[in-house]
Amino acid sequence: MRLRNIAGSREVIADSKYTVKNPETKKGLWKKEVFGNDHKIHIEIGMGKGRFLMDLAELNPDINYVGIEKYSSVLLRAIQKQEERQLPNVIFIRMDAENITDVFAPSEVDKIYLNFSDPWPKDRHAKRRLPSREFLGRYDKILKSDGVVEFKTDNKDLFDFAVEEVEPAGWTLDAVTYDLHNDPVMNEGNVMTEYEEKFSSQGNPIYKYIVSRKGK
Ligand code: SAM
Repeated sequence: MRLRNIAGSREVIADSKYTVKNPETKKGLWKKEVFGNDHKIHIEIGMGKGRFLMDLAELNPDINYVGIEKYSSVLLRAIQKQEERQLPNVIFIRMDAENITDVFAPSEVDKIYLNFSDPWPKDRHAKRRLPSREFLGRYDKILKSDGVVEFKTDNKDLFDFAVEEVEPAGWTLDAVTYDLHNDPVMNEGNVMTEYEEKFSSQGNPIYKYIVSRKGK
């Protein structure tokens, strides 16, 4: 998702109490310094306008949620929503997830969500795909040993690629569905993202996996 550049969005983000500036200074300190509690930390990488994360935060007030988004113009929309909703357990970072290990300490994160990640269809860009083995290697460094990554998409090529990356990256496929909305077990408690609502209303099936390092 990339919206038209919005004048002043960088300034709004810099001034917002809902974003963390210089997030690398919070490495190892997220619970204590940012949230002021010892609740679990769940992050969404590439959260877009953040509705999924904020809906989850409302449902689970005892979990801390961090939303990560690369583009200011998109993050601005999430900030505007959070200004209305004022959820105490949500905070945002504007950054490229490539640098995620600079921001979270080993085992600091309990769960990672990837939703409708950019497909990067050209082979030479495979490393930029958020469920690639390179990114799984980064997640390995910040996720608790029993933590999971949950990935949803309607893009079959990206999903097939993601499933193939799991084993070579040293992870285990715990659960998989090729039609989430018609899978009563995996769909239980499902919170839809903006893209999920849009693409499923067009008739596209939604694919989902849950991976961990349990087998390691
Ligand atoms: N997750 C939302 C949803 O499902 O409705 C938004 C999906 S949108 C297609 C993907 C988002 O991921 C975009 O807003 C994009 O800017 C962001 N993104 C892609 N690569 C990223 C990266 N390396 N770091 C942070 N955000 C990224």
